[in-house]
Amino acid sequence: MSITSGTLYIISAPSGAGKSSLVNALIDSEPHIRVSVSHTTRAMRPGEVDGVHYHFVDHAQFTTMLEQGEFLEHAQVFDNFYGTSQRALEKTLAEGIDLILEIDWQGAQQVRKLMPQAKSIFILPPTREALRHRLTNRGQDSGEIIERRMRDAVSEMSHYVEYDYLVINDDFGHALSDLKAVFRANQLLQTAQHQRHAGLLSELLA
Ligand code: GDP
Ligand code: ADP
Repeated sequence: MSITSGTLYIISAPSGAGKSSLVNALIDSEPHIRVSVSHTTRAMRPGEVDGVHYHFVDHAQFTTMLEQGEFLEHAQVFDNFYGTSQRALEKTLAEGIDLILEIDWQGAQQVRKLMPQAKSIFILPPTREALRHRLTNRGQDSGEIIERRMRDAVSEMSHYVEYDYLVINDDFGHALSDLKAVFRANQLLQTAQHQRHAGLLSELLA
């Protein structure tokens, strides 16, 4: 990796906590941050676009990619497989661009082992009722799928202790500014600023 390598961020949350809405709002105002596009075997939702929200693949394609070592991490979440392409991730970071992985706790554990410098953020809903409400209002999943996601939410949330930052998504605007603060603080780390302002520093210290 080059010395100007971008920072890797991991964001996890139980389904419906508002992870994608927050990340989309973040990158709308911070165009220098990118989101990794995962591969998944889950069915496409209405409005989703292949290659934008996910790379949608079937089981056979996913298995082939797995066997060829193309995933940095992968996991089974609910009844579907999800994975992060290693090549795309390395290319983005090498260009000095910050990258967000929206992945589950199993994937987060794998990435932390491989890239301990990654910063991780966990997003929680304000209440269980709000979580159910959001999953229902999103209008994307059947009642059966929503029940499955609610059942799995507690085990996903129990992993919050493994993360560097915790953001509660009660008021959306408040949660978004908390998320922005995490990114801003990391951009201001001395090691990052040192590279960014090398010219200024050598002038000031001359
Ligand atoms: P949503 O999060 O409710 O919008 O539902 P999705 O079907 O998009 O994602 C379900 C779960 O899979 C979430 O916990 C995601 O964080 C996780 N996920 C998505 N992409 C990946 C990936 O590439 N790797 C891993 N490990 N988990 C992923
Ligand atoms: P996730 O990506 O974590 O599964 P989404 O971003 O799809 O969650 O959000 C789930 C639903 O909740 C969406 O309909 C979204 O518009 C809504 N939502 C997100 N944040 C809030 C919030 N702070 N208050 C109310 N609804 C929210």
